[in-house]
Amino acid sequence: MTVKSKADTLKERQDRRFINKETHTAAKYLRRLEELSNAPDGIEQFYQVLKNIYVEMGHTETGNQKTVGTYCVMTPPELIYAAGAVPVKLCSGNYTAFSVGDSVAPRDACPLVKAVAGFKQTGLMPVYEDCSMMIVPITCDCKKKIAGMLSENCNVTTLHIPASRNDEDIEEFTEQLYQLMEKLEKATGSRITFESLSEGFRKVGYAQYELSEFIRLKKQIPYLIRGSHAMAIMNAAAYMPADMWGKALHKVNAALRKNIAENKTVTTKKLPRILLTGSPIVFPNIKIPLLIEETGGIVAADETCMGERGMWDPAVITDYSFDGMIRALANRAVRPCPCPTFADNSQRIYRLKQLIEENQIQGVIYHVLRGCLVYDFEYRRIEYELGKLGIPVIRLESDYNEEDIEQLRIRIEAFIELIKLKQTPEKRTTVRRDF
Ligand code: SF4
Ligand code: SF4
Repeated sequence: MTVKSKADTLKERQDRRFINKETHTAAKYLRRLEELSNAPDGIEQFYQVLKNIYVEMGHTETGNQKTVGTYCVMTPPELIYAAGAVPVKLCSGNYTAFSVGDSVAPRDACPLVKAVAGFKQTGLMPVYEDCSMMIVPITCDCKKKIAGMLSENCNVTTLHIPASRNDEDIEEFTEQLYQLMEKLEKATGSRITFESLSEGFRKVGYAQYELSEFIRLKKQIPYLIRGSHAMAIMNAAAYMPADMWGKALHKVNAALRKNIAENKTVTTKKLPRILLTGSPIVFPNIKIPLLIEETGGIVAADETCMGERGMWDPAVITDYSFDGMIRALANRAVRPCPCPTFADNSQRIYRLKQLIEENQIQGVIYHVLRGCLVYDFEYRRIEYELGKLGIPVIRLESDYNEEDIEQLRIRIEAFIELIKLKQTPEKRTTVRRDF
């Protein structure tokens, strides 16, 4: 009989504590999503995926395919599918992993990266441990350092993201995708061919098609779906193969269309329509969208990379050759991306204005994760540009814990009240009576 050393017993106890806390937090946020009224039929499959990954600490459903971890929407999933693997987005929103990462990463690193460091440190999260390879696009210093940390015990490859998007940059990024292709082939043991790459485009394209329909339906007034529910659907995409996610979304879209026919909406109240943008909002760190909707607003649109940005822009193939497809991926990854990591962010302003117009947005909540400089830098410019349109905007800084919830609630509530006051008197009366 083996006698366990003291160190082993201590480690076991620490691991158990970690698992208990992690699963408890994830279950709590799932419950809060479920408690928000009028979720559409079909959303259960997405909840189940989040539950499987974070509450049951299970694996991504990939059949026998390998998984490749990615850390930014600028990694083309088509290429991973073409190599016979399934991409899994590993940017983390986990509070428990964050508290572990806090002791191994520098104080001023962002919580997203600290949470990734925490999962690496514990080695307890199957979705991370299962990866045959991880791809880390270098978009900020935090990403650069986490790539180094992860490579201590995982096959990590980095992608250099250019600061600008001119033709030379795209050329250079295309070259990197060819190199990435070879590494993927080595990690998965599958060759990327014209056929497999076309199939990768088909899978992602199908998911994007369903997403475009979902976004069309989400824009309807009166509202058919709450933004928090939409964000749960979008977050689940990180852990589902694209075609499986697309099929599940197809069912939600059908339910939403049926609701239109039956005149069933989330509410008939005129809730202030909020655009949520800024640093990534990754489950279970969904306290901000939940707070917006629990305090009487509606997240009518989001411009975040675990939300609509993640899959919005399809790659446009103008030359149906293998090289043409790789170039289409390079162009799609870099040119339209509204991430503030680029030096020139006029595209970001353009996209925000477009979302404001299309979704009749009345106020913008700009989320900054503590230590996320790229987003924080942008805030002033966005505030200035939106000010010219008369759109109120607030900057909300948050961390991966629940200590700031009350402070966030007070600020969000005040912001929503301000928007109500800006509405016409008749409309304001309606909103007040409805509450
Ligand atoms: S915020 Fe920017 S750098 Fe971070 S994952 Fe999203 S697109 Fe990539
Ligand atoms: S872009 Fe911001 S949130 Fe993302 S890794 Fe960098 S600092 Fe963290």
